[in-house]
Amino acid sequence: MIDTHCHLDGEEFKDDLEAVIARAKEAGVKAIGVPGIDLKSCETVMALCEKYPGFCFPMLGLHPEEVRNDWREVLQIIKFKAQSSSTSEAAKPSAKFKVLAIGEVGLDFYWSREFEEAQLQAFEEQVRWSVELQLPLMIHCRKAQNEMVNILKRYKDDLPGGVFHCFTGNTIEAQELLQFERFVLGIGGVLTFKKSKLPETLKEAVPLDRIVLETDAPYMAPVPMRGQRNEPAFVAYVLQKLAETYGVEEETVSAVTTANVARIFPSIVNKS
Ligand SMILES: [Zn+2]
Repeated sequence: MIDTHCHLDGEEFKDDLEAVIARAKEAGVKAIGVPGIDLKSCETVMALCEKYPGFCFPMLGLHPEEVRNDWREVLQIIKFKAQSSSTSEAAKPSAKFKVLAIGEVGLDFYWSREFEEAQLQAFEEQVRWSVELQLPLMIHCRKAQNEMVNILKRYKDDLPGGVFHCFTGNTIEAQELLQFERFVLGIGGVLTFKKSKLPETLKEAVPLDRIVLETDAPYMAPVPMRGQRNEPAFVAYVLQKLAETYGVEEETVSAVTTANVARIFPSIVNKS
């Protein structure tokens, strides 16, 4: 299994990171994608991934909820980091590894529309990086699917692909996202929640070859761990529920979702 989205650099893991990593490996996790959300976390993410090369893979970006008036300056610095670690290692011997993706980026109008215009511009700017650097996108989107789709459509033919992370929408929303052929849906703990309609939606509208696993740890812990701190080992519960949802063996889900990751994030396979 690959946990494509895990905030392993967070404070929540600072006391027992080694144990968390060990439990993840024990549970069968082969790689973890670690997204940046702001300037500071882009640094902690890189530092963490340098400690676990071939297992933890960095993504760099400015999260929509972290967009403030200084977003242009912040993006300049993040882009410099992304650029210098996305060039080939031969050309840049100091870079230990490549950045896996631009993320997490997107739009979030759930809590506030205060920075709506800035969010839209910052997102589009980072979508352009994805095209320019040919790095996939890790997209966070809440209460803003129309706006997000409108922006992505402008770059549809040139985007290398990516993940619509933490997908929780309905059938129509799923179909709208799947029109982006090189993109997949990131499925995590919500799938296991008792009242979730997600199992039916996935079965109806989303083939297994368009899904990747994620935890979004420390958030969104799946049942039976709901309410606790989430961690990458718990991705096994998401896998279990997906197998149940599609009526296939767990091995099938892990093989297909891992192949999906390999397609979108080729640098994970080249390294792990
Ligand atoms: Zn996240």
